[in-house]
Amino acid sequence: MAAGPAPARVPARRQYRVQLRFVTEEQLFRPGRFWSPNPKSLRLEVHPAGEEARATVTDADGVCVFKCLLNRDTECCRVGKESILITLGCNSVLMKFESHAEFSAFSNTLKRCRNQKKEHSVFSQQTEEASATQYFQFYGSISQQQNMMQDFVRIATYHRAILQNHADFKDKVVLDVGCGSGILSFFAVQAGARKVYVVEASSIAQYTEVLVKNNHLSDKIIVLPGKIEEISLPEAVDVIVSEPMGYMLFNERMLESYLHSKKWLKSNGMMFPTFSDIHLAPFSDEQLYVEHFSRANFWYQQCFYGVNLSSLQAAAVDEYFRQPIVDTFDVRILMAQTVKYTVNFMDAEEEDLQRVEIPFVFQMAQSGLIHGLAFWFDVAFVGSRVTVWLSTAPTEPLTHWYQVRCLLQTPLFAKEGETLSGKVLFVANKRQSYDIQIVALVNQTGFRSESILDLKNPFFRFS
Ligand code: SAH
Repeated sequence: MAAGPAPARVPARRQYRVQLRFVTEEQLFRPGRFWSPNPKSLRLEVHPAGEEARATVTDADGVCVFKCLLNRDTECCRVGKESILITLGCNSVLMKFESHAEFSAFSNTLKRCRNQKKEHSVFSQQTEEASATQYFQFYGSISQQQNMMQDFVRIATYHRAILQNHADFKDKVVLDVGCGSGILSFFAVQAGARKVYVVEASSIAQYTEVLVKNNHLSDKIIVLPGKIEEISLPEAVDVIVSEPMGYMLFNERMLESYLHSKKWLKSNGMMFPTFSDIHLAPFSDEQLYVEHFSRANFWYQQCFYGVNLSSLQAAAVDEYFRQPIVDTFDVRILMAQTVKYTVNFMDAEEEDLQRVEIPFVFQMAQSGLIHGLAFWFDVAFVGSRVTVWLSTAPTEPLTHWYQVRCLLQTPLFAKEGETLSGKVLFVANKRQSYDIQIVALVNQTGFRSESILDLKNPFFRFS
């Protein structure tokens, strides 16, 4: 029996009367008259599952003066008998309730929302804790952020894409997903952004805050430490900027976080980058293949300090061939025109990236042994003035993404004019990466080869 759709559940609504003040630390401790005379109306919509609530405060004319999401990341504390202070980034708002009953009801809801377990976030559900810890430790280091900032092609292209499309940023509210040093937010401000919310899950966020203060931009750039899947923004945004691309585009699974962030994007908002193309082509590289194979030769030894290792030779070869190879190459090794697969960040949903299947048919432009498939990607920033491309193609200046090659353990012979068809299947795993399956067939001869690779564990071959 097939289950029918669950009945729609509407949020529970509650109404309160509050006095409201946006406060700085100094104001909070300054003596004298504090509250404005007019109480405001606070509407609380509690999500059916109870893990989140939306608080909206309106004035006597019904104009919204403040709104926020209450969830387990909400920073708050009780002040005195009947007031609550909620902090969002660098801003705090103090709410004084008209009665103790109202205060208690509100604070109970708040407590419930805040006690929600971490496992409920999309990120923690799809990520092993050990992987996330190691990942955010890596990005927490200044040297790693520097490494990315020193990728001239990357940084100069983002700068150009944002500045040349300054009209899309002027007076706009921007979200920077995984801001790292915050560099893209500084670019957004240079382009005229009114406000930029920057979200960063690693400990680099504390240094981002230092840079923001030291550049006198604390009124414009609001640092929100935490994961994009778990934090709340005080308002919806016009533009989302991010640099979520990993090796072979998909590694790190940060594209999903980028797509997740669209929950904060206004319906007519923009994504920067806007879409991405991953390219693939068959290649011939005898030297790479032999080199890779011979890495397992160590296990051929029958008398390694008196021990016979040879029973593990086949397993060693398998393991090495599961490693995608990160380096660059001369384009003359490519044997056919590329096949392209597009991920449009405006349309795609997070779930679309859990399993990505790329079918291919290559017309062979030369005869020879096909040792594997080469991959690279481009991203496009589609602004209202210009479209700017960031390319990691082997024909373009090298970036820190290099290119990635996946070897076929069994190379395939094909002649010019024949076709190589098959598919590449990316299946997301909980280690913030993908298991890759490649199936390839020379249609005219029936020669077939299949490989399984682990994108989490690439072999860095560049010197
Ligand atoms: N935007 C910066 C850094 C890019 S690297 C720049 O262009 O230089 C990607 C950053 O995103 C890292 O600092 C990483 O810690 C952060 N990040 C990755 N996943 C995240 C998530 N789910 N929520 C918040 N930050 C995330």
